[in-house]
Amino acid sequence: MTVHVIGAGIAGLAAALALVRAGQRVALHEAAPVAGGRARALPDGTDNGTHALLGANRAALRFLAQIGAQEGWVEPEPAGLPVLDLETGSARRVSLSPLGWADAARRPEGMTLGALFALLRLALPGADRSVAAAFAGHPRLLRALVEPLTVAALNTPVQEASARLLGAVLRRLGGRGAARLLVARQGLGPDLVAPALATLACHGANLRTGSRLREVVQAGGRVAALEFAGTSLPVGPADGVVLALPPWEAARLLPGLSVPQRHAPILNLHFSRPDSGAVGDHPVRFLGLLGGLSQWVLVRPGGISVTVSAADGSIGLTDAEAAARIWPEVRQAGLRFGLPGEWPAAPPPARAVRERRATPRHGLNPPALPPRRPLANLALAGDWTVAELPATIEAAVRSGEAAAAAILYALARRQAVPA
Ligand SMILES: Cc1cc2nc3c(=O)[nH]c(=O)nc-3n(C[C@H](O)[C@H](O)[C@H](O)COP(=O)(O)OP(=O)(O)OC[C@H]3O[C@@H](n4cnc5c(N)ncnc54)[C@H](O)[C@@H]3O)c2cc1C
Repeated sequence: MTVHVIGAGIAGLAAALALVRAGQRVALHEAAPVAGGRARALPDGTDNGTHALLGANRAALRFLAQIGAQEGWVEPEPAGLPVLDLETGSARRVSLSPLGWADAARRPEGMTLGALFALLRLALPGADRSVAAAFAGHPRLLRALVEPLTVAALNTPVQEASARLLGAVLRRLGGRGAARLLVARQGLGPDLVAPALATLACHGANLRTGSRLREVVQAGGRVAALEFAGTSLPVGPADGVVLALPPWEAARLLPGLSVPQRHAPILNLHFSRPDSGAVGDHPVRFLGLLGGLSQWVLVRPGGISVTVSAADGSIGLTDAEAAARIWPEVRQAGLRFGLPGEWPAAPPPARAVRERRATPRHGLNPPALPPRRPLANLALAGDWTVAELPATIEAAVRSGEAAAAAILYALARRQAVPA
């Protein structure tokens, strides 16, 4: 009895963990040379892109606890997010939690009573519309808070992003501790992927990298075999399959599956910075920028990573072009917030990582999602399979756990009828 988990991104790792915790034997198959998928460490140890979690991401935080990695995720800015407006020069600490807005000093600019009502209205049922349309009457709040949150959480420009989905994100920020922003202290390798693999290995789950699933052979509404290059694995009546793949790969393997078709890019620019040492009292800092190309800046000892989400307009920049535009913005923020270390006028060596299909675009009228278990012994996982959340680590973990539960249910019933 083996459950084959295809794809060792976060969804696949979460599915595998849930399955081994339930006593199943798991084989994990990954096409790439390393696990982690869109949340992975590059060969030099850099993250492919900065990943932040929120206190509201309960499933992701539970997953970190299960793999013993919660200590690796730190809150870089407990006193509020330092935000520099590059156009006006205004620098302030902004609370991401609505509870913090009682303090005028930590309230985002443009938070009038009317703008607050516009935020609250997102929680009400009604026809969906774009975030830009929902905040057309509140341009200051749109610029200072709503647009940065939309682009960060939905990776979609406000002109096309779903106000309903943003409402779902904002609703989750209300509880105590829900808006705490966390980042990996050292990186996604040591603080996420390696501990997950170590925990799985302890449970006897092995990972085969460089193992791309080419074909799912079906018979009678079930998976009969999995075809890898040079290997065909029969899938017996007591076996199961979790397909934890990005949407385009799931659709290639299961033709006719309804999946998101449009994706949005994220550009990350990593500056090396060997001189910086520990950054003040905090080993890690996190800044927000308005009015420029850079959106978020993660400062770790030895390196600075800058994120540009919904990067349709900048994904085509060369490394040198991106560095020339982004470094002056980052330098201005570093100096303005008094971050220690050298801030030379010339950009330090930089490398861009371009994720062209970072996430689906979260616009209006998303395609209907397929059932969790489209075949009797196969369940789908992946960040795109959770309708009520944007494609994030939280969605990936939840999807993996839901797929594991669906397979456990199917195995328990040994049913032959598609769900
Ligand atoms: C630059 C960037 C920044 C992000 N920032 C954040 C953030 O701050 N916070 C947040 O919560 N989320 C963030 N995300 C989103 C987050 O990374 C994803 O939602 C999550 O990693 C998706 O996990 P997944 O397992 O669903 O998919 P994937 O990570 O895509 O995993 C799928 C895996 O399947 C493998 N695979 C593909 N085809 C095959 C095949 N045929 N056979 C075997 N294996 C195959 C792939 O190699 C991959 O490892 C970001 C994403 C990017 C790209």
